[in-house]
Amino acid sequence: MHDNKTVAIIGAGPVGLAAAAHVLERGMSPIVLEAGPEAGHAVRQWQHVQLFSPWEYNVDKAAARLLAPTGWNSPEPQSYPTGGELLDRYLNPLATRTRLRETIRTSSRVTAISRVGFDKAKTKGREHAPFEIRYQNGKGPEVLRADAVIDASGSWFSPNPAGGNGLPAIGERERAHGIAYGMADVRGAGRARYAGKTVAVLGAGHSAVGTLIDLVQLADEVPGTQPIWLLRGLDPAKAFGGGANDKLAARGELGSTFAALVAAGKIRIEAGFGVTHLSESEGRLNISAGACCGARSVVADELVVSTGFRPDLSFLSELRLRLDPAIEAPVALAPLIDPNEHSCGTVRPHGARELAHDEPGFYLAGMKSYGRAPTFLMMTGYEQVRSIVADIAGDKEAAARVELVLPETGVCTLGGVESGAASGCCGGPATEEPSACCAADQTARKAGSAGCGCS
Ligand SMILES: Cc1cc2nc3c(=O)[nH]c(=O)nc-3n(C[C@H](O)[C@H](O)[C@H](O)COP(=O)(O)OP(=O)(O)OC[C@H]3O[C@@H](n4cnc5c(N)ncnc54)[C@H](O)[C@@H]3O)c2cc1C
Repeated sequence: MHDNKTVAIIGAGPVGLAAAAHVLERGMSPIVLEAGPEAGHAVRQWQHVQLFSPWEYNVDKAAARLLAPTGWNSPEPQSYPTGGELLDRYLNPLATRTRLRETIRTSSRVTAISRVGFDKAKTKGREHAPFEIRYQNGKGPEVLRADAVIDASGSWFSPNPAGGNGLPAIGERERAHGIAYGMADVRGAGRARYAGKTVAVLGAGHSAVGTLIDLVQLADEVPGTQPIWLLRGLDPAKAFGGGANDKLAARGELGSTFAALVAAGKIRIEAGFGVTHLSESEGRLNISAGACCGARSVVADELVVSTGFRPDLSFLSELRLRLDPAIEAPVALAPLIDPNEHSCGTVRPHGARELAHDEPGFYLAGMKSYGRAPTFLMMTGYEQVRSIVADIAGDKEAAARVELVLPETGVCTLGGVESGAASGCCGGPATEEPSACCAADQTARKAGSAGCGCS
């Protein structure tokens, strides 16, 4: 179907490496460009974090087939790795001990992509022009040509700022020394920085919850440590998740543990706190929420901003992307993961068709494909790249096939109305009840809308 196509893959994270394994398996040539000095560069930044998905969901099947002949011991499927273990036991062996080794170019940051001889406006014959990928590798600018491109560069390195309006809060850039983004390692590498301090954590997702739990433990070990939870919404319970109804037990437990700590008063809560200004007085941070001059204010020594991530689209400006204007995910995928509509985390399986753009041969995959939506799971990415690579190879039947059933979160909002664990939502016991999320999802889909992807 193909005559040894070259497929450029941007990013050697779990999804980029899986894509490369699928490309090899189909007899095509992958070239993986990775900005960091090693594969798994983004995962390395959060290596202290315990994953909430067990090994059985974290290993791509084509990658496992590449690893098998190297004497690789596949980890116990039901156990949960940390980010560091994901690197040591899976990503590192995959990148260094299999045939992928020759395909990965590290310290190679992609800076721009276009098509040879075609600017964005020129149409006729466009689909036949190879891609031209520019990257920097410390030796100077390099150019690579490829028949297809899979951008799996993630979004870890473009975190959302603190400002409630999506812009950096006024004064945020100037206070960078007192701010960490994503998931700070407060008990490990960052212990000296956070121990005995008042630490504000902004956000209500898994990263904020995990950091706050770690800070409570740090407070038990080092008196004087004070966690403050700043959340933009008014209802703290929304961060507690689906508890026992979550099909990923560790993800459910994270929420339940957090709910118990909040109930026990271990965490000071400031709800409805949309950060607008950051200033400094006497060496401490003044975090303010209010249109002017700080209508409400919290004083802390450190701020951890865990408000999610956004895709870096800067190097894709010469390509014809079709992205949802709000979620910044491919238009067919966005309604399935839009956090305004539902919070299942259980997107319907999707692949090449949903991820296509008006630029034949170009795909976004992995964490980046979710744009600003927070619910991405690695296994979703593995299914994406299986389908995308089949599509590139011309195997339309395999590209259209669905080979994934995702675990459900136990929490679901449909049209903004929450149906919680108690009503048997998303994998709870009462799926047959008409009020249950899965039933509502089916009804919505029969009526032609996207539904929430629960079933
Ligand atoms: C703290 C945390 C915990 C998570 N826990 C789980 C979990 O338990 N289970 C689960 O399924 N998912 C989890 N996820 C979500 C997701 O599965 C992971 O983020 C996963 O690493 C995404 O894989 P990826 O390959 O899409 O992107 P990444 O792992 O982010 O990899 C992208 C790679 O691209 C490189 N890159 C970036 N820009 C460029 C460029 N311009 N040129 C070249 N290379 C570039 C980066 O250096 C990086 O190595 C978690 C995410 C976070 C942040």
